[in-house]
Amino acid sequence: MNIEQSQRQYEIANEHIVGGVNSPSRSFKGVGGGIPVSIKKGNGAYLYDLDDNRYIDYIAAYGPIITGHAHPHITKAITQAAEDGVLYGTPTRLENDFAIMLKSAIPSLEKVRFVNSGTEAVMTTIRVARAYTGRNKIIKFAGCYHGHSDLVLVAAGSGPSTLGSPDSAGVTKNIAKEVITVPFNDADALEQALETFGDDVAAVLVEPIVGNFGIVEPEPGFLEAVNDLTHRYGGLVIYDEVITAFRFHYGAAQDLLGVKPDLTALGKIIGGGLPIGAYGGRVDIMEQIAPLGPAYQAGTMAGNPASMHSGIACLEVLQQPGVYDHLETLGKKLEDGLHVAAKEAGIDDVVINRKVGALTVYFSDKPIRNYDDAKASNGERFSQLFHALLKRGVHLAPSKYEAWFLTTAHTEADVEETIEIAKEAFKEVR
Ligand code: PMP
Repeated sequence: MNIEQSQRQYEIANEHIVGGVNSPSRSFKGVGGGIPVSIKKGNGAYLYDLDDNRYIDYIAAYGPIITGHAHPHITKAITQAAEDGVLYGTPTRLENDFAIMLKSAIPSLEKVRFVNSGTEAVMTTIRVARAYTGRNKIIKFAGCYHGHSDLVLVAAGSGPSTLGSPDSAGVTKNIAKEVITVPFNDADALEQALETFGDDVAAVLVEPIVGNFGIVEPEPGFLEAVNDLTHRYGGLVIYDEVITAFRFHYGAAQDLLGVKPDLTALGKIIGGGLPIGAYGGRVDIMEQIAPLGPAYQAGTMAGNPASMHSGIACLEVLQQPGVYDHLETLGKKLEDGLHVAAKEAGIDDVVINRKVGALTVYFSDKPIRNYDDAKASNGERFSQLFHALLKRGVHLAPSKYEAWFLTTAHTEADVEETIEIAKEAFKEVR
């Protein structure tokens, strides 16, 4: 595959943009290096690079592009937005229409607020929880990513009863002291943390289905235990549904799983590919926010007409009958086909975690139920698979921790082609 022009752009990028990328997850550092291909166009399930190579896309822009690239209904909505002027700094009917749409899909959102990213959404739910409870600390789960605000860039301490330490330079030790990190799917560890710190815990923050060390589902009773324990100690439960909302069905994971948080953070899919975040929940908690309450949150771009148009259009596409059945059918076909491809190449230690149209391939001989399991999976072999797929025209996100996302634009033929390519690619995995 000729990627000359991508190579040239990567050299220019490294000269002018720090690390050559505008988000570290796009760098190939995590897959042993290489040249990230420079994409000039996306259409349906495909990406096209500057040298006109075509890739079957499983990145889906790290989640938002669930309807495929340049979906005509969304493109039309964004065009309309551009023609009407993209930003007014005043209220619009679009914000109301979209808020009502979200609320009717996710009943726990008694009131909502639009922001511009998942980072902002999660950051603000934490602030609101602290304002409401008058407490300082949060508990989160190891390996779950919640954006890049200070409080959620804190790594685990040595055990559930210990405070965290900064996971990024520039996050202070004082901030890390406000965060406790416990293993996912481990209600006992959560209980231990709450026994130690419970009277100062404002919130427990969790991805109800993990998307950030691959796709990992909660074990039966785990989320119920999170709710019971957190509430017993007087804290609030925050679900980070930035990846999960509208991913598996028309609504949030909470409704699929029959559990209800106090606050929810949203992003990605709900913007149809334009920048967005949103948060919402119990009205008595949400009324802590300015202009009604003392907790401040604002945004020049918040609720901007372009993102509202695009988000509404995206959800309209997802309301069409059969959308999630299609994702389930393709997801199952891809999962089964990848198992066969690995087996044919003589590889037995492949674990695939899948939920509807999202899956992760781990090189591991045991099930992946928490971050330690995912960390222990073989990254070198994943990197080999990644590069072997990429050079044959299948583009995954460059990390063993990211999910493969199917879109409504993928077809059975795309999945079949992927499986045939995977049969060759797995042979290059040692
Ligand atoms: N929460 C989760 C669960 C995420 O996966 C992400 C982004 N990958 C974020 C929050 C942050 O969202 P954003 O990148 O839009 O700030």
